[in-house]
Amino acid sequence: MEEKTELLEIPGTWDLPWMYAAGEVGSRYIEELRDNARLMGTKCPECGRVQLPPKSFCERCFVSLKDHWVEVEPKGTLEAFAVVTLPFPETREPPYVVGYFKIGAASTNILHFLEEIDLTDPDKAREELYIGMPVEVRFREEREGRMMDFYIVPAQD
Ligand SMILES: [Zn+2]
Repeated sequence: MEEKTELLEIPGTWDLPWMYAAGEVGSRYIEELRDNARLMGTKCPECGRVQLPPKSFCERCFVSLKDHWVEVEPKGTLEAFAVVTLPFPETREPPYVVGYFKIGAASTNILHFLEEIDLTDPDKAREELYIGMPVEVRFREEREGRMMDFYIVPAQD
């Protein structure tokens, strides 16, 4: 006779302080964001790809990009999104919109929140958002060198 095993859940928490070494290129990106309210990417002199956040080398051409900086225009498009209605640990209270955004001439996408969306009816918001939707970047007055120093909203045009 086979007995069914009870599947148990054991609650627990991790308190894990850590320090991320931003490196030379990451540090300049953060400094420009914090001190000058601008997004800087690196542009490959071989293939022309612009990476945002910047990288120290082109992963396609293996060329150093440390001296190939470009300012990225703070406008872009929504490339993918999710209207989040369930809580996840260590993030904001739902509902909220998280998306991938192509910013300026960047060849890469960044992950961020899409702000200033009416989420009183999340299903309605899902229907109104679309891939390719124009967005713009706004910089907070108080910046501390974090990803949240800027935020993304639908373009106001
Ligand atoms: Zn390249």
